[in-house]
Amino acid sequence: MKYIFVVGGVMSGVGKGVTTSSIGALLRAKGLAVTAVKIDPYINVDAGTMNPIEHGEVFVTVDGDETDQDIGNYERFLDTNITAVNYMTTGRVYQSVIERERAMGYKGKCVEVVPDVPNEIIDRIQRAGKNAKADVVLIEIGGTVGEYQNVLFLEAARTMKLTQPRNVITVLVSYLPVPGAIGEMKTKPTQFAARTLNATGIQADLIVCRSVQSLDEPRRRKLALFCNVAAEDVIAAPDVSSIYEVPIIFEQQKVAERVMKKLSLRAKKNDMAPWNKLLHTIQHPKREVQIAVIGKYFSTGNFVLSDAYISVIEAIKHAAWANGVSAKLTWISSEEYEKTPARIKELSNFDGVVVPGGFGARGFEGNIAAIKYVREKKIPYFGLCYGLQMAVIEFARHACGIKSAHTLEVDPKTPDPIVHFMPGQAEKILTKKYGGTMRLGSYDCTLAKNSVARTAYGQEKISERHRHRYEVNNKYREVLEKKGLVLSGINTEFDLVEIVELPRAVHPFFVGVQFHPEFQSRPLRPHPLFKDFIKAALKG
Ligand code: GLN
Repeated sequence: MKYIFVVGGVMSGVGKGVTTSSIGALLRAKGLAVTAVKIDPYINVDAGTMNPIEHGEVFVTVDGDETDQDIGNYERFLDTNITAVNYMTTGRVYQSVIERERAMGYKGKCVEVVPDVPNEIIDRIQRAGKNAKADVVLIEIGGTVGEYQNVLFLEAARTMKLTQPRNVITVLVSYLPVPGAIGEMKTKPTQFAARTLNATGIQADLIVCRSVQSLDEPRRRKLALFCNVAAEDVIAAPDVSSIYEVPIIFEQQKVAERVMKKLSLRAKKNDMAPWNKLLHTIQHPKREVQIAVIGKYFSTGNFVLSDAYISVIEAIKHAAWANGVSAKLTWISSEEYEKTPARIKELSNFDGVVVPGGFGARGFEGNIAAIKYVREKKIPYFGLCYGLQMAVIEFARHACGIKSAHTLEVDPKTPDPIVHFMPGQAEKILTKKYGGTMRLGSYDCTLAKNSVARTAYGQEKISERHRHRYEVNNKYREVLEKKGLVLSGINTEFDLVEIVELPRAVHPFFVGVQFHPEFQSRPLRPHPLFKDFIKAALKG
C-alpha cells in the first residue's frame, strides 16, 4: 500500500481538501483503488459537538460518524463512501491510547507521547487503507505546518517514511500571496513553509501552489531550487470558478504521473472523460436557476461564510448541471423575516427555496413565515431535516388550524408537539450525553406509490443519512394527511416519517425530508430529489 500525506503551508483554508480529493480523483481515473483519511488536530472526538459557524459543516458518513466537511469532498471526488475509520482527531487518537493503556494493552510499559501516539495514528491510517482495499491512501493533515497542534501527526508521517521510504510521499499545499501594493506573486512564505516542514524531518515531494493566479516559470524554478524539489514537482493551482476544474488542471501538469513515478505505481487506464464532460457542462450552462437558501449559520464577524452548508450547496450545483443549467445561490438569514416581515415577498424572485438542516430557536419563526409563503405562492420548496420539521409545523399551524403547533426543541411546553423527541433522546439531553448520540447514519425508507419522491428515485426502497434528535409526532399523522400533506417516505422499522410532500396537483414541488440527501449527491451522480427540485424550479 502507498501513502500520500497532504499538509498545508502558510495559512489554513488553502485548499488541502480539494487538492487531496483531486489527486485521489486522478489516481482513480488511472484505475487505482484510492481512499482518503482526514486528520483534524483538535481535541474534540468528532465534529458533531462543534458550532458550524466555527468549524463548517458536520459531514455524516453512512456508518454514522460526524466528521469534517473534507470527508464530503473525498466522497464527491472519489465517488465512494468513506467510513468512520477514515476520520481521526487528536481526541480520538488519545482516547484509544488511554483505553488501551487501561486495558493493559501496552503490557506494563511506560506509554510515551512519542512513539505511542504516532504509532496509534499509523495503525489507524493502515486500517483505513486495508478496510478500503486501497492501492493508495491519501492522508490530509489538518492545520498548517509550524503550528503546535499537528506535530504528532507530522511525526507519524515522518516515521512512516523512515520505515517505508518507497511507499510514502508528502505533498505540501501552500499559498502564494500577490500583494496589491507589489503586484507580484511572492514565494517566500512557501519557502519558509517548506523549511518548517524540513524541521519536522519531512521533505516535500510535491508543492502545490495556491494563488489567485497561475504560477509562472521563474517562480516555479525559484521554488524548486529553494525548496529542494524538481521544477516539475511544483504545481500551479490558481483560483478557479469551480473546484471540479482542479483535477483537470492537475492532469495537465501530470500530477498523477509524478506521484505514480515516485511511488512506483503503474496506471491501469486513463479515463478523464467524465471529468471533462462535467467541466464542459459547468462552463456551458443553458441558463441560471435562482435558488434561495434560508439558514442561519452564515456570518462570522464581518464575513459571510457558507461552509456550514457546503454539501447542500454542492448538491444544488450538481442537480443544476444535471439539468444543463447553473445555480445562483442567495443566502438569506431567516431572522431577517422576523425583523422585517415585509421582506418575505422577495422570495417570489426565486425559482426555488431550500431550508437546510439546523438546530435551536434562532430564526425559527422567520423560517415558518418563509415556508408559508412558498407553500401558498407555489414556489418550489425543498426542506432538509429541520426544513422538513418546520414545513410540517407550518402546515399544522396554517393548513390544519393547530395554532400552537411546535417542536419540543424550541418550545418544550407546547400543547401540540407536532415534532417531538425520538425515543431515548430526551434522556440523553437530560444527562448531557450530547456527543455522537443523535440518530446518525444511514437508515432505510419506503416510498409511497406515485409520490413525488418515488418518481424522483424511481424505486421503492432507499437509504439515506440522518442526523437529528427529533421527529414528526405520529399522533398528528392522521390530521396532517386529512388536510392534504402526503407522508410519502416511512422508515418501517421504527415507524418514522422520513418524507412529506404536497401532491403535484397542488404544488409544483413541496418536499421535506428528515434525512440529509445532500450527503449522497456526487458531481458525476447527482441526487434524484435535488435533480427534480431544480427541474421544478426551472418550470416556474
Ligand atoms: N434540530 C432538528 C433535530 O435535531 C433537526 C436537525 C437537523 O436539521 N440536522 O431533530
